[in-house]
Formats: sequence, structure tokens, C-alpha cells
Amino acid sequence: MINFYTTWLEINCPKCSYQIDIQLIDVRDEITVFCHNCKTNIQLFNEDASVDTGIAKINQTMKDLDDTLNKLFR
Ligand SMILES: [Zn+2]
Repeated sequence: MINFYTTWLEINCPKCSYQIDIQLIDVRDEITVFCHNCKTNIQLFNEDASVDTGIAKINQTMKDLDDTLNKLFR
């Protein structure tokens, strides 16, 4: 299974739009990231555990795809 938590995302600083690279796990853990451009701390929010829900959905889709492929190439 692919570990989506290590997927890199790009967000933009809400103040100066400076691009900041974060990982999905950072959102899940709701860490505070630091903008090196304007020296602002940005609090990440995992609203309604949306990261986990999203990953669960992706994994389910991959499983469905897997099942479909298995049927095709049996
Ligand atoms: Zn900034």
C-alpha cells in the first residue's frame, strides 16, 4: 500500500503567498509551519479528519482498480 502521508503538498502563505512545501502527515498532525519569507507561523488544520478520510477513499479506489484489473487478466 502506498503511504500517502509522505506525499508532498505545496501551500501558499496566507499573508505573503510564499510557497511552502508540507507533507500530508503535517496536516494530519496539525503542525505549525513557518513562513521563511514573512516570518509568520501558519497553523495547519485537519478539519473533520479530512486527511484520513481522503486517504481511506484513495486506498479504496486503488483496491477497486486492483480488483478490476485482476478480473481482466485472470
Ligand atoms: Zn509568508
